[in-house]
Amino acid sequence: MNKIVVQKYGGTSIGDVEKLKSIAKKVSDKKEAGFFPIVVVSAMGKSTDELVRMSEEVTFNKKSPDLREKDTLLSTGELVSSTLLAISIKSLDKKVISLSGSQAGITTDDIHGSARISDINTSRILQEIKEDKIIIIAGFQGVNIDGDITTLGRGGSDTTAVALAAALNADVCEIYTDVEGIYTTDPRIVSNAKKLDKINYEDMLEMAVLGAKMHPRSIELASIYDVPVYVAGTFSKETGTLITKGVNMEKTKTVTGIAIDKNVSKITIKKIKNLPGTAASILKPLSDNSISIDVIVQNTPSDGFIDFSFSLSQEDLEKAYEILNNNNTLDFEEVVKGEDFAKVSLVGTGMQNAPGYATEMFNALGEKNISIDMITTSEIRITCLINQNDLDIAVNSLHETFELDK
Ligand code: ASP
Ligand code: MG
Repeated sequence: MNKIVVQKYGGTSIGDVEKLKSIAKKVSDKKEAGFFPIVVVSAMGKSTDELVRMSEEVTFNKKSPDLREKDTLLSTGELVSSTLLAISIKSLDKKVISLSGSQAGITTDDIHGSARISDINTSRILQEIKEDKIIIIAGFQGVNIDGDITTLGRGGSDTTAVALAAALNADVCEIYTDVEGIYTTDPRIVSNAKKLDKINYEDMLEMAVLGAKMHPRSIELASIYDVPVYVAGTFSKETGTLITKGVNMEKTKTVTGIAIDKNVSKITIKKIKNLPGTAASILKPLSDNSISIDVIVQNTPSDGFIDFSFSLSQEDLEKAYEILNNNNTLDFEEVVKGEDFAKVSLVGTGMQNAPGYATEMFNALGEKNISIDMITTSEIRITCLINQNDLDIAVNSLHETFELDK
């Protein structure tokens, strides 16, 4: 049996000295029990936010911070937590070593701020395991071929952990966090949201992209390399949720959960000429500026003109609005922006062969007098854009309609 266990502890789990010391004990106990813990840590508490804030404060003329420097800066958050954890474990008279992403052999491409892992050279890690050491690895970072530090994007330590589990062929990747697992929906909104024992990668990916907290790329990776991921509460005795492959796992229910995204805005371009390539010329300058857009609605042309709407995240709204307004090649009447929307999505691989879910969803929303602004569907998801104010009622009503508490 492979005794390597990859564990990841999130920022809140090591948010202060006392918590960090209790993780040190937990990890030592795991070693004592005969395992080889490879521990990935996030930065302590909200320290990454703090570093981001400082990087923005030191620039002149509101310029964005230089991305290379910012990556090196942000990587220090995880260096603090990984070294402190190693120091703590060492004082328990255990063999331990902390490694930065680069020392751990993690190479990435050179997209600063959202780098992707290209390779993990495990030789150093395997050497340290041979020397019987507990290994603490700074999450969220790697190094590009020029030797510069890169980061994987906010929340990226999950991805570090899963990538290491895949590279080391670990039986499971354990993610410890401040929630006790993956729920049918946000328990802060629906009081009887249920913790799932298991969820498959496809459903989890939708839940992760649309709300449930985990770095989506970590789920993608886990599914490609078939790494089971166990998500549980750091300081909880409750069992967590296993994210793994398999379609209908012990379930007769076909809706797995309701994903939520509160942070949504919308742009409508009024009366633009409908020519071949119109949609592309609207969207290209946005994607060139790394603005991703989501639900798109284009109405049928009347007199050769269309209205073209799409949703996007709240953070990107102003920038997108500006880009569109300054684009002289587009001929339109006006650009209208809308704020305070939310997305609510029914998610479930089981829905794909069973019709009627969409109707049932629209009905449930209609009965609560909630109007739907945009709709989009995939085989395993139905998404409605609604007013943010309607979100709580919508989610509660859908949770009940699809009996997710049962
Ligand atoms: N510390 C980084 C962040 O706050 C990475 C992580 O937490 O996974 O985004
Ligand atoms: Mg996280």
